[in-house]
Formats: sequence, structure tokens, C-alpha cells
Amino acid sequence: MAVQRPHIHDLLIVGAGLAGMRAALAAPAHLDVALISKVHPVRSHSVAAQGGINAALGENDSWEAHAFDTAKGGNYLGDQDAIEAMCREAPDDILELERMGVIFSRDGQGRIAQRPFGGAGFPRTCYAADRTGHALLHALYEQILKGRIVVYEEWYVTSLVVEDGVCRGVIAWDLLRGGLQQIQARAVILATGGSGRVFLTSTNAVINTGDGMALAYRVGVPLMDMEFVQFHPTTLRKTGILITEGARGEGGYLLNTLGERFMKRYAPEQMELATRSTVSLAIGQEILEGRGVEGCVLLDLRHLGRAKILERLPQIRQLSIEFAGLDPVETPIPIRPGAHYQMGGVRTNQWGETSIPGLFAAGECACVSVHGANRLGGNSLLETIVFGRRAGTKAGEYLRGVDQTPPSASHLADEERRIQALLSQSGRDRAWQVRDELGQALSTNLGIFRTKESMLAAGEQVRALKQRAARVYVEDKGRVFNSDLIQALELNCLVELAETIVAGALVREESRGAHYRSDFPARNDAAWLKHTIAHRTAEGPVLSYAPVAITRFQPK
Ligand SMILES: Cc1cc2nc3c(=O)[nH]c(=O)nc-3n(C[C@H](O)[C@H](O)[C@H](O)COP(=O)(O)OP(=O)(O)OC[C@H]3O[C@@H](n4cnc5c(N)ncnc54)[C@H](O)[C@@H]3O)c2cc1C
Repeated sequence: MAVQRPHIHDLLIVGAGLAGMRAALAAPAHLDVALISKVHPVRSHSVAAQGGINAALGENDSWEAHAFDTAKGGNYLGDQDAIEAMCREAPDDILELERMGVIFSRDGQGRIAQRPFGGAGFPRTCYAADRTGHALLHALYEQILKGRIVVYEEWYVTSLVVEDGVCRGVIAWDLLRGGLQQIQARAVILATGGSGRVFLTSTNAVINTGDGMALAYRVGVPLMDMEFVQFHPTTLRKTGILITEGARGEGGYLLNTLGERFMKRYAPEQMELATRSTVSLAIGQEILEGRGVEGCVLLDLRHLGRAKILERLPQIRQLSIEFAGLDPVETPIPIRPGAHYQMGGVRTNQWGETSIPGLFAAGECACVSVHGANRLGGNSLLETIVFGRRAGTKAGEYLRGVDQTPPSASHLADEERRIQALLSQSGRDRAWQVRDELGQALSTNLGIFRTKESMLAAGEQVRALKQRAARVYVEDKGRVFNSDLIQALELNCLVELAETIVAGALVREESRGAHYRSDFPARNDAAWLKHTIAHRTAEGPVLSYAPVAITRFQPK
């Protein structure tokens, strides 16, 4: 439905990716629900998801087995009550998606096909060839278009409105026409996706700047487990474009320069389908020890044959041809690990509730936490659907007892002043320059191998970049499609999140999942089986710790 004035809704959802759209569809039908997105909804990063979505549908599979794999794969840092909820509810959610019109790939008997993925004891990843996110997002968008839900398309949320300790809406910049507006709502759900662009080499879209995490953090909601950033093992040389785990799920091999399937030395049983952190570390080690190929290793699909590659991995073939100049039917693909997924995020409970009444979060921007120290492939799309739905339902319940209270006009006035100051300041740097340097600092010093020295260096760089980010020069002073201004705002989110990543990683003196420290190579449950909680202060993040919920699987 088109946007109309005044901008007042019952429920406002920030983000129109899978989590946001699923939340909107789950909210009770009598509510006035609106979605707001800085890009057209189907350009949200969810559209790029390739390999699939997990659910224990198989006859010999069970949600308990899925929960076990998830807890173990996350090195026991995930909260098991939340993991249980996700895995138990997954099969019904997949069937619901199918009823909404998602065209999943089929097996020989006509059932939803499932492929094996890393760290899973059973083939339980449902897929639509290697374009699963595209299939899911478009099906949900069709449901949104039925008309009940208002969509603010190409609006950028700059801050949350919190008054008397309750969330009452947002302030947003209308990209098309320019200018700030207050959008009043009785509840807000953040579904703003990941922050992969904190790193220079990343599989993430350039819009993945972690805005929602920063928005929540600024109004006092803590961020959890931010040091756990997943590096996907297989991203394309130079561009960092993702090559799905589905390529290994379908039987692809990883080879070093000697032509050896080196995973046999790191994970002799699971081989290429070990967890992502294990495979990324192995690739890093091969390259470090001189067995790489121009800073990469090779992903070999040739033995799968042309027919299977065309049927199951058409996008991978297309990306390889267009961006690496080779056809995987005939030539192995040079790949290396790249930043991919933020396991941490806005701290919520199993229903998406944050510490502020009326403020919820779901999807990659939230930390429920189900992924712990390392997410299993296929569990993130699932998280968006299960916890998007749960947040939409819970927000509906919350709204039964909440009136529409107009917030004071001072929020809008404050934000007007902030934007005006940003447009008038005359710093030396442009936003993109600082952003590149920030990405470089993190990619170099907080990649798959971390040490105290590298992280201290990163910390210093981030501190200096934060100051430069606050003073950047916005050359475009206009109102219409001022992407220069948006980049400056995004940059200020990125630097704040970078600070929390560095702070959490420096203090955590152990290796667990995606957080690998060469100076503390062992996992240390006695000291570190706990969540890192980052609270914002004027001087930077202050950390505290919280216990992990362990229900049925004792850490091994
Ligand atoms: C290349 C790639 C492939 C992947 N493949 C898989 C896979 O096969 N299986 C799997 O499980 N996971 C996969 N993942 C991870 C998964 O796709 C994401 O974690 C998930 O889709 C995130 O969904 P989301 O709804 O939380 O956010 P997104 O889809 O990223 O949507 C975020 C939304 O927030 C909006 N937004 C952000 N900031 C603002 C702001 N300030 N104002 C207004 N709007 C804002 C954006 O416009 C967008 O609509 C993949 C990720 C990538 C990058």
C-alpha cells in the first residue's frame, strides 16, 4: 500500500528482507503495519542467498538432531532453548513458505529436495537451485503486495524514537524527495540485516552496514557476541563474491597447489563439509604454508559433470564465468575465505524482545542467539523466517496493551540539527575513503587468524577512523537521492560496530568457532563459555558477560 500522511502506524518494521517481511505477514491482520527499507524490498541482501534453508523434513531426520548439530556447530555458545524452538518449528515454516508459493527444487519422488551442508549430520538443506534467497524473497513480497501493508520504499531510518523508556517510532530520511520525517508507531521491529561491510572483502551487499544494530545500541540496547564474524570458506578471487556451500554439498572438492584434497588432514571424516570455521582455517593454513594458488585454493566441480552443474549450480557457473573468466565445468574455481555473516547483534530473547519495551529485533541484525560461535550454512535463512514470524506475533501481543502516544517534536528537531551539521561540516575525508580504510583495518587484523597484537593495532586504527568518520565531507548538499549523505550516516554505524567487534575479540582469550586466536588456540569453557555483552558509552563499548542457556547438550 502507498505511503500516506500522517505517518502513524501500529507496527513499523525496519527492513524488508526475509525477516522483516515474515514479521509483517505474521502480525495480526487488524493492525496497521508498515515496512520501511532503504532499498526496494527485493533488493534486500536476502535475495542473494544461494545454498538453502534448513529443516528436518527427512524421514530419518529429527528436529533434535538438527538442534544438536546447531549447538555443536556453534561451539556451544548458542542458547539451546532458542535453538530448540528454531529447529522444532522449522518444518512447519518450510511448508508454510511452500504454501505461499516458494518453488523449492524437488527430488525424484516429487518431495522437497534436500542437500547436505557443512556440520550437518543429515541432508536437511532445502533449496531452489542455487538461488534460494531469490525464490523466498519474491514469494514473500508477492504476499506483501496483496495490499494491507504500507511500504516505505527507499527511506533511510536515522534514529529510533524512545520516550519514557518505550519505543514510539523512528526518524527517517526520504531518499526520493529528501528531508526527515517522523514515523510514529506503537512498536518497532528491527530487521535490518548484517554488517558484513565492516570488512573490506565481504560477500555482503554494499548496503549491509549494520544500521539497525547501531540504532539499537545508541538508545541503550546492548549488542551480544559481536566478535563472532563468520568467514565463508569459498568466495571468488578478487571480488569476494560468494560461491555457495551447496557447491561442496553437491560434491565439490577443495584442492591445494599440489592437487591434494587437503581437508583430509584437517577433518578426515567430514572433509569439505566440516563446519565453515574449520574449512576457512584449513584454507588459511594451506595458503599460509605456501600451498595456495595466487592467494587462493581451488574448488573443483569438474567431476560433477555439466548436467548437474547446470541443474543445481547454474548461478555459480554464471558468476564464475562473468567474474573470474572461467567455466567451472572445465576449470577449478580459485576461492578464498571472506567475511560473510555476523553471528552477534542486538540482544533479544526467543521472541525478539529487546531490553526496551516496544522495540523488537529479528534476522541477522539480532542475536537470539542460535548460531553461537559459528553459524551452520542454511540456518540463517531459517532464523529470518522463524524469528521474523515470532517477532511479528509477539509485537501483536504487546500492542494489545499499548496506546498510541505521540512523541515530542524534539526528536525530529534534534535529528534535523544532526543532519544539517553533517551537511555543513568541512572535513578532509570523504565517507568512502574512511570506509575503505576501516574495511582494510579489520580484514587485515581481525580476519580468520587473530592475535593480541593484530587486534590492538585494529583497535587503534578504529579509534582514529571513528573521529575521521564523524567529520567527513559530504559534497552533495542536495535533497534528492543524496547517497553521499547516506554513506556518511552508514559509515558512522560501521565504526561503532567495529569498536564492539574489536573490544569483544581482544578480551576473549580463547579460540571458539569463528574467533580463532593464534595466541590462544584452544577453546576454554571454564573461563569463556559465556556471551559477550557490549554496552555503549561515550568512551566506547563497555563489556559485561552473560551465561549461555544449556538445556540438553552438554559441551564436548
Ligand atoms: C551472498 C550471500 C549468500 C547467502 N546464502 C545463504 C544461504 O544459502 N543460506 C542461509 O541460511 N543464509 C545465507 N546467507 C545469509 C542470509 O542470507 C542473511 O543472513 C539473511 O538473508 C538476512 O536477512 P534479513 O532479513 O535479516 O536482512 P536483509 O535481507 O539483509 O534485509 C535488511 C533490510 O533492512 C533494510 N535496512 C537496513 N538498514 C536500514 C535503514 N537504516 N533504514 C531503512 N532500511 C534499512 C534494507 O533495506 C533491507 O530491506 C547468505 C548471505 C549472503 C551475503
